[in-house]
Order: sequence, then C-alpha cells, then structure tokens
Amino acid sequence: MSTETLEFQAEARQLLELMVHSIYSNKDIFLRELISNASDALDKRRLAGLKDDSLKADDLHIRIEADKEARTLTVRDNGIGMTRDEVVGLIGTIARSGTAETLRRLKENKESAELIGQFGVGFYSVFMVADKVTLLTRKAGEPTGVRWESEGDGTYTVETVEDVQDVPEGTSIRVHLRPADEEDALYDYTDEAKIREIVKRYSDFISFPVRMGESTLNSMKALWARPRSEVSEEEYREFYRHISHDWTDPLDIIQMRAEGTFEYEALLFLPSRAPHDLYQRDARHGLQLYVKRVFILDDSRELLPDHLRFVKGVVDAADLSLNISREILQQDRHIQLIRRRLAKKILASIKDLMSKDAEKYRTFWREFGPAVKEGLLDRTEDHKAILDIASFASTAGEEPTTLADYLARMPEGQDKIYFMTGDSRAQIENSPHMEAFRAKGYEVLLLTDPVDEIWVEAVRDYEGKELQSITRGAVDLPSEEEPSPEEAGEYAAVLTWLNETLDDVKEVRLTTRLTTSPACLVSDTDGITPALEKMYKAMGQ
Ligand code: ADP
Ligand code: MG
Repeated sequence: MSTETLEFQAEARQLLELMVHSIYSNKDIFLRELISNASDALDKRRLAGLKDDSLKADDLHIRIEADKEARTLTVRDNGIGMTRDEVVGLIGTIARSGTAETLRRLKENKESAELIGQFGVGFYSVFMVADKVTLLTRKAGEPTGVRWESEGDGTYTVETVEDVQDVPEGTSIRVHLRPADEEDALYDYTDEAKIREIVKRYSDFISFPVRMGESTLNSMKALWARPRSEVSEEEYREFYRHISHDWTDPLDIIQMRAEGTFEYEALLFLPSRAPHDLYQRDARHGLQLYVKRVFILDDSRELLPDHLRFVKGVVDAADLSLNISREILQQDRHIQLIRRRLAKKILASIKDLMSKDAEKYRTFWREFGPAVKEGLLDRTEDHKAILDIASFASTAGEEPTTLADYLARMPEGQDKIYFMTGDSRAQIENSPHMEAFRAKGYEVLLLTDPVDEIWVEAVRDYEGKELQSITRGAVDLPSEEEPSPEEAGEYAAVLTWLNETLDDVKEVRLTTRLTTSPACLVSDTDGITPALEKMYKAMGQ
C-alpha cells in the first residue's frame, strides 16, 4: 500500500488544535505521556510472550535519544507495536466516550485545564512541543512496518514499510521540536539534564528501564511494594495518572498488604471526580492485576464489587498463575476473598476520611455516593458499612447529614428514621406529606437520587431504628389523632362522593396529618412509593 493522507477525526482535530495552542503551562508532561504509552506497550508485549512462545522478547525497555543539532527527541520501545489499521484507529481517532462533550465545554472555557483532565490528552500532548511527529512501528510478529507522520494540522500520512530492517518490532516516536521560544518558556527538550529530571519526576516507577546513552534513568521500584513513608505524594500522583489516565489528582490513597497463606499487596486510589461513564454498564473499570510484579490484566472488575467500580489501583498477588485468564478470575476463590477484603478496607478508609478530612469526604460522596448506594441492593455484608458512610439531604439543614447524626438529633418520642423520596429537594419540601412532620419537629431525609427509590425497599433499618417513608399508609406519628366523630359525620357525604368519583384512588379518608394542605396522596403501607410508581410507568410497566 502506498502513502495515504488521512484526516484526523473531527474530535481529534479539535483536541490537536487545543494542544498546538497549548492550554497547559506544563509542557514537560508530553514525555511522561510517551513513556506511559511505551510502558503499556511493553506490558502487552510481555503478556503476548507468556501466551505465545514465538512472541517472547528479551530485554524489554524504553530508549530515549536526543539530537541537539536536528532538534529531535526520540522515544523508542520494543513493545507490542501497532498494525497499520491500529495506527489509524488508535492514533487518528479518540475513542473515549464523552470526548465531544468535554471538548465543547473546553472551547467555551479555555482556562479550564481541569476539565481536560477528565480524560487526559495522551499522545496528542506531544504537539505542545512538536511541529512534526514521525512514528515508526511494527506489531510483534508482523512482517511489515508502518510509518506515520503529522504536523499536528488536520491531517497525517501513513504508509506501509516493507523493509523491516528499517522498523524493528515495537514503536519509535520521533518528536521534531519547535524552535525554542523564550516567551513561551519552551525548554530545550534535547538537554540531557532536563530529560533526566522529567523522567525522574514523572516516570520513576515505570517497571521497564528507561535508558538514555549508557544509563538507566528510572528506579523501576513498584510503588505498592514500598512503605508509605518512603514515597512522596508526587510519586503517588504520577503513578495514579499512569494507571488511571486521569489527569486530576486522586482524593485519597489506600495501601494494603496481606501476609500468610494468600499474599497480596494493593495500592488503591479514590479519584476526585466521577468519570462521565460511571453509570454506563459497558464502561471500562476495575483494577490492574499483577502477579509478583508482572502485569497480567487491566480493568479487572472481579477485584471490586460493582458499587466500588470507580476505585483505581493495583493488586499484586503472589500466588496466582501468570497465565490466569478473566474466566478463571471470575471463579477464583482467592480473588473473591481479595474482593471482599478490598471492599471492607475501602469503606473503612472512607469512614476515616469523614473524621480526618470532612471536605474530602463531602467531595467523595457528591461524586460517588449514588454508585456506592447501589451496594445496598446487593446481598453483601457491607450494608452497615455503606450506611455508615452515606449522607443525605435533610430537613435539618442545608448540609447533608449522616444517619448517625440524624439519630443523635432524634427527639424524645421519635422511634423511626423518616424519609421521603422524590425528584428534588424543593419538590419534597413542598409536599403536603411534610406538614405533620414539620409541625412535630421531626427531621425527614430528602432522598433524590434515582437509586434511593430502590434501596429503601431493601434496607429495613439502621442501628435498630426502622426506616420509614412518610408517604406510606398510616404513618403513625405518635400524636396523630383520630378525627372526632363529629368531623367524621360532617365529611361523610363528601368522602362517599370522592370515593365514587376518583377511580384511580383506592380510598379517600379523613386525616389529621395535614396542617395547611387540604389533601394529599398516600400509598398503601405495602404499596410502592409514588416516585417508584412513576419510574415503573416511565419504563412502560
Ligand atoms: P491512552 O494511553 O490513554 O489510551 P493515548 O493517546 O496516550 O491514550 O494513546 C492512544 C493509543 O495509541 C494507546 O491506547 C495505544 O493503543 C496506542 N499507542 C500509543 N503509543 C503506543 C506505543 N508506543 N506502542 C503501542 N501502541 C501505542
Ligand atoms: Mg497514554
């Protein structure tokens, strides 16, 4: 096949444009991104070699070469490489969902480097410093190579290279650096000291050697195996970025080590914001699985219960087979044990966060609370731990409250935890159901997440106190009086008429629960809540 000139996909073009007119002040990170990709490719190559003897490779590594005269910087790996189709598919397009939306918001608000952190720019960040990039690659085991080149405008060229002498297996990326520009604070990225500094800062933990000349620039120490006190916050942050592809800093770090019959180490991160695909069933999530420092699987969902799927990190197990597959993972007893332990530890860490750093806890719950509450629907042993870290909007104030605080505020005589579900705080607060509770000074939890409709059906109580919907049947507020016989007589005719006229209503009766509203709708004690009824209706049931 001859040289083709192709256009970047529209979203990729927009992202490139943002890179060329660089919105980041820190351009050093392009090298981190190239090394991160090279490391991923080496992981894949090592795995391929485990499965297929003919793909075994020795001395997997990354090499950096700088040419001061030509102003080029080359990052080379002997990893998995890419086929021509893969180059076009992986480099020419952005597959991540939600990219268009993020880009649109970015365009409107150029300052917001935070926003772009939601998905990171990866390979394209190279165009912050390059006016041309040449990529040479050959997929492991393939007879031909591929040459790809772009100047970061809307197009790129791609051609097949028949003579594999020119293209060893793996990938090399040659960055043609833009002319140095003092105003733009563009460093000289051919400077050895500068390269050293960047690799040390951002890529020290990369588990393959990063070489330049005769020296290896990184220590290759697995972060999860090092004591917490020896690792700096910055090292953790960079590691998090590498494994999560999230550019924002993690909210919290959780480290675990289990010794004994089944040994493993885990380094986990709570992200500081929910990914846009948190509620998409087919989204990628899960942890990285290592066996004795060797990367085995990405996105291992089996290592976490679904309601904690947003947690990122690494589990390194000592006693698994290097050939473990996803299928085996799903059934493995040890894996199930690890999952339970990790879940417990994560929930306990969030509980700690509540007292250690209330602000962080609030951020966590705002971002991930609805997902965590899904755990209340499972048959897990963690219901209590989830309710312990949950917080809810409440009539007691503007800030969400925990159930423990709710219990502490409960006045003499109240013996239940009252709640109402609905679409919004305002809607619930204006509901006639609230009146009697307001009058009595009873606090009501205002549950507005869709998942709240469902878990309240599954969870009966907290700390021995029953959870009670205020829209259900005869909520027996201790002082709710029966209407007097005179009142009953007075309204008998109206009630008969209402009962006959309102077909959709099962029963109309007198109540003392209202103070200012003339009427309210109530579900049967065992019926479904109005909001759930609405949800089922919307689903056509
Ligand atoms: P991400 O790393 O988040 O997937 P990037 O933009 O950094 O996004 O890279 C896009 C894709 O290009 C990678 O997922 C990978 O499939 C491919 N790729 C990039 N660099 C290399 C490389 N050195 N070797 C093999 N594949 C690569
Ligand atoms: Mg990348």
